[in-house]
Amino acid sequence: MRITDFILGGLTAIVLFCFVAAWLYVKFKRKQAETRIAVDKLTGLPAKQQHKLLVSEALKNQQGSYAYVSCDIIDFKCFNEAYGYECGTDTLRQIASVWKENLREKEQLTRISEDHFCMLLEFESVTELEVRLRKLFLKTSEEIHKDRGGKHHLSFRSGVYIIEGNQNVNVIRTRAEMARMQAEQCRCTTIMFYDKENVRRRLWEKELENDIKKAVEERELLVYFQPKFDVKSEKVTGAEALVRWNHPDRGMMYPESFVPLCEANGYICTIDFYVLEEVCKRLKQWEENGCKLLKVSVNFSRMHLHHRDFVEKLKNLLTKYDVDPAYVEIELTESIAYGEVQNLVNVMKQIKAAGFGLSMDDFGSGYSSLNLLREMPLDVLKLDKEFFGEYEESTGREQKIIRHIISMAKDLDITVLAEGVETEQQKEFLKESKCDMIQGYYYAKPMPMDKFTTYLNQISA
Ligand code: C2E
Ligand code: MG
Ligand code: MG
Repeated sequence: MRITDFILGGLTAIVLFCFVAAWLYVKFKRKQAETRIAVDKLTGLPAKQQHKLLVSEALKNQQGSYAYVSCDIIDFKCFNEAYGYECGTDTLRQIASVWKENLREKEQLTRISEDHFCMLLEFESVTELEVRLRKLFLKTSEEIHKDRGGKHHLSFRSGVYIIEGNQNVNVIRTRAEMARMQAEQCRCTTIMFYDKENVRRRLWEKELENDIKKAVEERELLVYFQPKFDVKSEKVTGAEALVRWNHPDRGMMYPESFVPLCEANGYICTIDFYVLEEVCKRLKQWEENGCKLLKVSVNFSRMHLHHRDFVEKLKNLLTKYDVDPAYVEIELTESIAYGEVQNLVNVMKQIKAAGFGLSMDDFGSGYSSLNLLREMPLDVLKLDKEFFGEYEESTGREQKIIRHIISMAKDLDITVLAEGVETEQQKEFLKESKCDMIQGYYYAKPMPMDKFTTYLNQISA
């Protein structure tokens, strides 16, 4: 090898080495700049340039649920006008400080522009998230309110996006911003969830599904009784058991908000037996206290029709509490699929054979086939409350239909009970039409079981 070749090779190696070293140095500096968190001078929060990086870092490999919230102050410009720019700046600083104090590990808060903040929040449930946000807003508005001598009350508007899996931060933020815009447009709420109808309902249902299982174990389900009255004597002759859910966060919930969901996931079967068990306990208690026993009806979903051991389970529960089935009436609705009719009739026959009372609920609300009445071993036909909802506006034709149903049921030895009776006029019409029983707000609303016992004592005193 010549000496010149040797020198050339050495020089190339040195140049290459310098390039690599310079490239590594630049990379290192960039990384260093990235990790050094720039700060928003006004609030001391991480600067908006850092926001995206911080949010994606926080979301990496996370197991929990996260929501992205975009919020601003309603009429902040007016606030600035009224109290001056300095006061406005001070207010923003206070808000940032209060919110920051309430952040949990991994959560993020950044001021994006003037009065516009963005947060990444971890949550357990949508309800918890909503409650927490409201508290956060209230806390800040109250604090500022107090400091201004009660002169100005700040209100916030926010858009919330529930993050689903591994999503791009830009997408997440855009959706939260869209929800905030929606909140601005409708002017109806301070917290607006992105695609509220779909996203929130889905989560809400999931939470309810989880909660309902706990509700049964923790005995959060309550049983209310609504009295049934004999039309002629106007005396209480029975009661219907209706379920309520005293939810720890949502408060008292009515069947329409959870029964359909439980019918869809099959959990209604557990609920119905829970209600029957409470009814059995109460009947036993009445008997032990020497009270006059009333027949209590319990609603059973059509889901039970798919269970071969349904009637067996009914019998076992009554045996367990030593209750005579003659004091329990099983209410089934007519809203069943055409193919289920024969099965329904079979189950009804078994229920009757076991000694229970049997009623058909909400008669007239679906596609009742009068022909079915021939086959069903019914004791009671409950006329749906829709019949009387618009009674004042009802025509002679509708009243004729009610009269005919009553007279036909009587021919078949079936007792007729009218549900949802609210006025004197409706009651008088039913009396004239020879209806046997009435249940409705006109006499009494459903009430807790203890209150019902007191109510019975009062009206019979
Ligand atoms: P339903 O069995 O037809 O019960 C009658 C409903 O009408 C009750 O509503 C009662 O509070 C209401 N009501 C009674 N009188 C009046 C009145 O004068 N005016 C009006 N507007 N309403 C009146 P609730 O308790 O909300 O129950 C709704 C439905 O939920 C029930 O209708 C029943 O289908 C279902 N449900 C209730 N408890 C249970 C249960 O334990 N199991 C099952 N499977 N379903 C249940
Ligand atoms: Mg009913
Ligand atoms: Mg009904």
